[in-house]
Amino acid sequence: MDFDADYEMTIDGLSAEKRLTFSAINPATEAVIAEVPEATAEQLDRAVAAARRAFPGWSATPIERRQELISRIGDCIEAHAEEFMRLLTREQGKARAGAEWEIGGSIIWCREIAKQSLAVHVVEKTSVRSVETRRVPLGVVGAITPWNFPVLLAIWKIAPALVAGNTMVLKPSPHTSLCTLKLGEICRDILPPGVLNVVSGGNDLGAQLTTHPDVNKISFTGSTATGRKIMAAASSNLKRITLELGGNDPAIVLPDVDVKETAKALFWAAFQNSAQFCVAAKRLYIHEDIYDELAGALVDYAATVNVGDGAHQGVDLGPIQNGIQFEKLKALLADSKAAGDRFLTGGEIVEGPGFFVPISIVDNPAEDSRVVTEEAFGPILPLLKFRDIDDVIARANDTQYGLAASVWSKDLKRARAIAERLEAGTVWINEVHSFSPHVAFGGHKQSGIGIENALEGLTEYTNAQTIIATQPEAVSA
Ligand code: NAD
Repeated sequence: MDFDADYEMTIDGLSAEKRLTFSAINPATEAVIAEVPEATAEQLDRAVAAARRAFPGWSATPIERRQELISRIGDCIEAHAEEFMRLLTREQGKARAGAEWEIGGSIIWCREIAKQSLAVHVVEKTSVRSVETRRVPLGVVGAITPWNFPVLLAIWKIAPALVAGNTMVLKPSPHTSLCTLKLGEICRDILPPGVLNVVSGGNDLGAQLTTHPDVNKISFTGSTATGRKIMAAASSNLKRITLELGGNDPAIVLPDVDVKETAKALFWAAFQNSAQFCVAAKRLYIHEDIYDELAGALVDYAATVNVGDGAHQGVDLGPIQNGIQFEKLKALLADSKAAGDRFLTGGEIVEGPGFFVPISIVDNPAEDSRVVTEEAFGPILPLLKFRDIDDVIARANDTQYGLAASVWSKDLKRARAIAERLEAGTVWINEVHSFSPHVAFGGHKQSGIGIENALEGLTEYTNAQTIIATQPEAVSA
């Protein structure tokens, strides 16, 4: 299999004809690296029909066999890990360590989700009557993914949806289709035809999937704005939805921390994947007693980090993934400058080639400024001062988002008390970004609906079915 060419969609277990195409760009160089197939409406219909046809056989396949095949997808990703990592860097921009994290995680997720199953809940069982609730698959799942972690976030959907007995039509972001198309290709040799179909295309194709009458669920990861549109569209046939959306995660740093160590941890909390991370720390609330010292330590640490083409050795952080996001970040920097904000580092963009934004740290901007209230989704980080705990909790919670948050302190009891008052689906204390296939992840407020990972995540790919049975003799007796 050639990871440098032949990017094709997978429909019904076969490569689909390439009728229309669009270009894939390497964000570090702005060079065109491939022509990506763009699915027509007819091809989408064929993909959904193939998934529909495959559903009865796949859902009737014993779960042990489905688990085995999902685990085998992990083995196959592992066998092609090097090619996946190189392609991921070329299309997404991320540096080697980031690519290793994502591809390594994808392998683990396949293997671990393949160990999960949902037990039948026996409510009543006597010699004459039983009441049981079991979980049954939904049918055809439409999966839509973003461009920041294209492989891992696709696996977060494929593995549980298929283990639960559903079939799928997967649509990656038009900005990062290549690895997902290759994932579809390797699965052709593992899964029965039609169980996993991969179609590439733009936002319109995603919209068509969300209104398709033969799709039973949409599992979506992306922006809150798109999530709202999907929720509305899914109402057409009451599709089930799981929405993993944006965040504006606060990190609250108490004055008792080890400043140097915490600065390093906070740096990566904020800037990993060039801050194109739904759960990046996006607002750093620092106690006023250590504000200057911690700000200085962050700037010192930032100076040791190399931003560049992720394909080059020694590079820690890559470019912004696409031109649209790059323009948004430029506008955000311009707005912050116009407001008179002081940059402790960064702030100046050197024009191309490549969509590069330097690590930019903003010194205590106004709480209601765009750089604080909006999800930057790029390496622009506001540092904010606080003195009072009640005040900082109110400021942390004053957002439409509720994805994740973190608290940093040597006093775990105190940190825990703060964590419990934060409106977020995940709160980390003295760590961040630890995910597990067995730990529930989902947003509060407008950061999402539903859960991914853990048995709760698996449950989202099922309906409950209650079977109540009585022996006839028992009724007549
Ligand atoms: P996006 O919403 O623009 O696009 C995501 C996907 O949705 C793409 O595949 C796109 O083609 C598709 N799409 C766009 N419009 C659509 C429509 N009307 N109907 C159906 N599909 C449509 O998001 P993005 O820019 O790719 O990703 C960045 C966003 O994703 C950020 O806000 C980030 O926080 C969020 N995100 C969230 C998580 C999470 O788990 N909560 C993870 C990663 C990214």
